[in-house]
Amino acid sequence: MSVDMKYFEEMEAKIPHGKVRTRFAPSPTGYMHVGNLRTALYTWLIARSQGGTFILRIEDTDQGRLVDGAVDVIYRTMAECGLDHDEGPDVGGPVAPYIQSERRDTYGKYAKLLVEKGHAYYCFCEKTESEEDSGNFNRTADPCRDLTREEVEAKLAQGLPYVIRQRIPAGTTTFHDAIFGDITVDNNTLDDQVLLKRDGLPTYNFANVIDDHLMGITHVVRGSEYLSSAPKYNLLYEAFGWDIPTYVHCSPVMRDAQNKMSKRHGDPSYEDLKAEGYLTEAILNYVALLGWSPKGEQSEQEIFTLPELVKAFDMTGISKSPAIFDRAKLDHFNAVYLRNMTPEAFAKAAEPYIRQSVKNPAYDVASIASVLQARCEKLTDIPEKVDFFDALPAYGVEFFTNKKSKTNPEVCTAMLEAVIPVLEALPAWTVDAIHDALIDLAQKLEVKNATLMWPVRIAAAGKLVTPGGAVEICHILGKEETVRRLRQGLSLLRS
Ligand code: GLU
Repeated sequence: MSVDMKYFEEMEAKIPHGKVRTRFAPSPTGYMHVGNLRTALYTWLIARSQGGTFILRIEDTDQGRLVDGAVDVIYRTMAECGLDHDEGPDVGGPVAPYIQSERRDTYGKYAKLLVEKGHAYYCFCEKTESEEDSGNFNRTADPCRDLTREEVEAKLAQGLPYVIRQRIPAGTTTFHDAIFGDITVDNNTLDDQVLLKRDGLPTYNFANVIDDHLMGITHVVRGSEYLSSAPKYNLLYEAFGWDIPTYVHCSPVMRDAQNKMSKRHGDPSYEDLKAEGYLTEAILNYVALLGWSPKGEQSEQEIFTLPELVKAFDMTGISKSPAIFDRAKLDHFNAVYLRNMTPEAFAKAAEPYIRQSVKNPAYDVASIASVLQARCEKLTDIPEKVDFFDALPAYGVEFFTNKKSKTNPEVCTAMLEAVIPVLEALPAWTVDAIHDALIDLAQKLEVKNATLMWPVRIAAAGKLVTPGGAVEICHILGKEETVRRLRQGLSLLRS
């Protein structure tokens, strides 16, 4: 069982030094939940804000959990969000491979090195994997902990299956986290966890330490569910004699005060949010502020582009307390991003949603988009907002009554009677011409503009709430259709 150190020396020699290096290390589960996306973003920001290197590593050692196409979801999400990686399975790098299942041999070698160093041991006990992982394992009762070298070699020679366990020493362990500060635990609360499983694959708890070291990771950013394992990681780094990276544990993203967000309970993933009509930029901006706040001059700023986040980001602004995912807040961010788009970009994004309800090619998408832009929280709200263009909905006469506009069915009858011939006689059907004609008419009739606009809008759209006012709606409908609808309104009033 002597160890050839050459392999380890070569591995050490490959490790890049001198720059900040961070990694996002997702397990390919088939979706990117909001907490994961936030971890990816913070990890990327720590690297980018310090001129460092950002690495993508795929953690697929739990073969039972593998899902087809899951890695593509990760690539696609990262690319859409602009979280580019400098090293990873697809782009390679100095410490490849970047997929854990392809690093299998490495873990076995390091586990055996740790046995040599006395910080791990072969365990031949018959145990199911769930027993091994449960942590309910009484190490003082484990007969394998104190096997002699000869006994171990004899069992290995017999070909007995084994796991390799970490030998937790007596005493206490203190580690430092950039967000949570110093944490000390008594080692008797830590189990002799499995490092290498019977199938020769490492547990996550072992693989992450080996990989983070061999990849030269300076800042390990992950969810705070890993805080309780951090002392064991520390002991592993110390056992190997390696530098301990800066730990940055992020508190969970919660659905409400009690529950973490979870796919199983129907909480949305990044892709679900996209499908619900949220813009990537708005999601990212919102997620950035879920558990991080800017400081100084920017402490009140809410809207950040990705390059602005790179400038403003400082990991000391990451919060210890869990963040609650607030749909209304995300809606607000999305509306701001939709409003800030150029009219052309908005029209392009809105077109498929507009065309879900507006099939009539005579109705101009750009004009419809222009009335929607200021009144839209999500792209998916659009079809319902513009459904009246293709078909005038059935509506009741009570829609013509509006206190603020000083209208009732009687007033509206008079207004529509007056406005129909004026609009019919208009030589040019432009927004300005329609607007001026309506304002002139209101003046002539000595009524408030709203008193005239209300019945025109109701008759044109058949809805109380519309994107755009009477003028824009009539303009989009065209003269013929407008007049037809206003006449229909009038007959409804007279019936
Ligand atoms: N594969 C782990 C996860 O998806 C990563 C944890 C870590 O970043 O170390 O939760």
